[in-house]
Amino acid sequence: MITRTQLSRLGLFDAKVPRYTSYPTAPHFSGDVTPGDFARWIEAVPENGTVSLYLHVPFCRRLCWFCACRTQGTATLGPVESYVETLKAELDLLKQHLPRGVKLSRLHWGGGTPTLLTPDLMKALIDKVAEVADFAPNAEFSVEIDPNEIDGARLDVLAAGGMNRASIGVQDFDLEIQQTIGREQSYDVTRTAIEMIRERGVASLNADILFGLPHQSKARITETVQKLLSLGPDRVALYGYAHVPWMAKRQQMIPSDALPTPDERLELFETARRLFAWDGYAEIGIDHFAVPEDGLAIAQKTGKLRRNFQGYTDDTSEVLIGVGASSISRFPQGFAQNAPATSAHVAAIREGRFSTARGHTFRGEDKLRSRMIEMLMCDFRIRSAELVRDFGAREAELVAMYRAANERFEGLLEITEDGLFVPVEARPLTRIVARAFDAYDLSKAGHSSAI
Ligand code: SF4
Repeated sequence: MITRTQLSRLGLFDAKVPRYTSYPTAPHFSGDVTPGDFARWIEAVPENGTVSLYLHVPFCRRLCWFCACRTQGTATLGPVESYVETLKAELDLLKQHLPRGVKLSRLHWGGGTPTLLTPDLMKALIDKVAEVADFAPNAEFSVEIDPNEIDGARLDVLAAGGMNRASIGVQDFDLEIQQTIGREQSYDVTRTAIEMIRERGVASLNADILFGLPHQSKARITETVQKLLSLGPDRVALYGYAHVPWMAKRQQMIPSDALPTPDERLELFETARRLFAWDGYAEIGIDHFAVPEDGLAIAQKTGKLRRNFQGYTDDTSEVLIGVGASSISRFPQGFAQNAPATSAHVAAIREGRFSTARGHTFRGEDKLRSRMIEMLMCDFRIRSAELVRDFGAREAELVAMYRAANERFEGLLEITEDGLFVPVEARPLTRIVARAFDAYDLSKAGHSSAI
């Protein structure tokens, strides 16, 4: 049985490791990818194929202290209205380059707070997206909904526009914790928002909660999970709070001495994990849970679970196009990121060009390593046969890589006939194991704690 001491020695508690929502990870993008590359990659999408579309709204009414998202606070509607005009212009530009017959397998509105948009702005955006592409059969339209910033009129527009999945941030229901992280959102406000969502026929609900928050204890996270379970979410993401006040300045408002120790973080995660498992949720990858009939649970069972910028997904589209400031797109050719600053993004779109500022063109072993890391993060195993088939990898070289990784993890991994396997007791190390296959992560700086 793996011990805490072993986990600690192998770097679990203090290692800064990426979440591997992409490979290479965004800090390794460079300025080599241009707006011209981005346009060409869009034009190369197969006619009648599918793409996923992500729309980013980088505004919030309030700026929660714990949140490291790149978003700006606004008390007035003016900046939001002007930004929506930019999004519409960007969607027009996208339409000019997108081949005929392409359909949307996924549409996701994230932020920031997309529900800051008025019903009229939402409707305008939904109509503009419909001009770019129709939904594919069984498409998913999901929206991040702030229970403090939602009402019936907005939900009516979203539901009429096809929203069939809502995503709600909870963090923790405990009032002292909420006050310490600068985000108050009562259980009643959350429950009411969920009821309103369901009344409109939106059946699928995601919720995010955090472990590792200041003042969080086993009793408090137990209560939060039980309250959340009473709301019946289909999917839950259980993320570790990453305290990086040197990068996310707002986090300086959070007292470091109220944070749980690394050992306590692991206990908090385990407490929540067990509660979801006892309630019948399937464990998805390293930090998600889903009811057995949910698409993620089915994808995991059938080996079709994938990883993208939103975490885990059952989306099979090869192409994800990000619209809005700082959004990242993924193509078979590589990644392209829009200008991170809203002002620079808006300026580019107004000039009639994409704002692509950085990215990465796949080369060498990128796709092979990307898939190895994705398999580890999704299935806790690397299947050699698939890598040989899809990337022309050589079995002997793969085995040498597995051996090197296993040596680094003191034999805790299993090298099988099929490939490499991370046994249950070593799974808290998964992100660190994945890093062993990351050829770019030399600096290991700026990422979040592995647990
Ligand atoms: S948690 Fe949500 S509402 Fe709060 S700052 Fe982050 S994106 Fe904005």
